[in-house]
Amino acid sequence: MAHETVTSLLEALVAIDSVNPSLVPGGAGEAGMARFVMGWCAERGIPAEIDNAAPGRPSVIARVKGKGGGRSLVLNAHMDTVGVLGMSDPFLARVDNGRLYGRGSYDMKGSLAACMLAVADIRASRLSGDVILAAVADEEHASIGVQSVLKRVKADAAIVTEPTALEMCIAHKGFSWHEITTTGRAAHGSRPDLGIDGIAHMGRVLNRLEALQAELSARTPHPLLGHGSLHASLISGGQELSSYPETCTVEIERRTLPHETAASVEGEFEAILKDLASKDRQFQGRQRTTLVRPPFSVPEKAPIVETLRNQATSVLGRVPQMIGAPFWMDAAFFAGAGIPTVVIGPDGAGAHSTEEWVDLGSVEKCREILTLTARVFCA
Ligand SMILES: [Zn+2]
Repeated sequence: MAHETVTSLLEALVAIDSVNPSLVPGGAGEAGMARFVMGWCAERGIPAEIDNAAPGRPSVIARVKGKGGGRSLVLNAHMDTVGVLGMSDPFLARVDNGRLYGRGSYDMKGSLAACMLAVADIRASRLSGDVILAAVADEEHASIGVQSVLKRVKADAAIVTEPTALEMCIAHKGFSWHEITTTGRAAHGSRPDLGIDGIAHMGRVLNRLEALQAELSARTPHPLLGHGSLHASLISGGQELSSYPETCTVEIERRTLPHETAASVEGEFEAILKDLASKDRQFQGRQRTTLVRPPFSVPEKAPIVETLRNQATSVLGRVPQMIGAPFWMDAAFFAGAGIPTVVIGPDGAGAHSTEEWVDLGSVEKCREILTLTARVFCA
């Protein structure tokens, strides 16, 4: 046990099927992984508990208690993976030339192994503050795991260990989903005097959305994230060929920057709808927001960012870059719970693709960085 390596632990984690069942019907879910992590913690005398976000969707919260009076830190990784379609031996870890191949090795069981080993390292250190391992369910779908865990976990900082090639991610974009519906008037196709073409009215909306997208690209870019964006994802409308369409609905995805909110995005759509209505009394459009995933950012001067940067610099022999990510992560939920959060994780490739691997040296370095950061932050 004392000699457990990153490689042997990660081989064991990859061998456990934890395909997200909300993403892939019939997927195994996180139960096997949670059982393994619970057993692993028990063997090391680390108190751990299960948090069930939904039946069969457990997360694990393990806690190395401090002596008291110190700052607390969460180390987070998700346990679920995407599907394995097209992979020949997805759960058989294969090591080749310093890389470990297998589903989830990079996204993000390598990170989970680094977190678990860091927590075990820290157990011997007798820190003042608590170090909490949050191994969560369902990051690849709706993040029900982290949202449930955050009802029970409070901390002074969090490190989300999504892979970043050991750079420090201090911002990522959010996204939100919106529906815009135009309402015409159904009528027999031979009665243009009665019918109002709801689909044609949607055409006006689409033109304006395209113009809004161009305007977003022309705004001052965020230094790490660039520009916000939007696209029309799905459209439906009309009843049958011989009738004027009563309604048309477009579903839109908007990718947001740290200063943009659901309200500011809705305001942009509202301005378009109001303007179109002012130009044509027959135009009727309304909008609805169906999902909001907020953007994430943390100040470079936040104590957890400074501590992590110093410790990463000593492990890597260079100052890690401060980067932004275009995609969404659970980091936004930690930040939304008022916990200053930063993202750092190992190097590799092939997340969500048929050949996935993680660089084992970078997992080991990640473990060291997490351990040293916890020792300083929670001293
Ligand atoms: Zn991930």
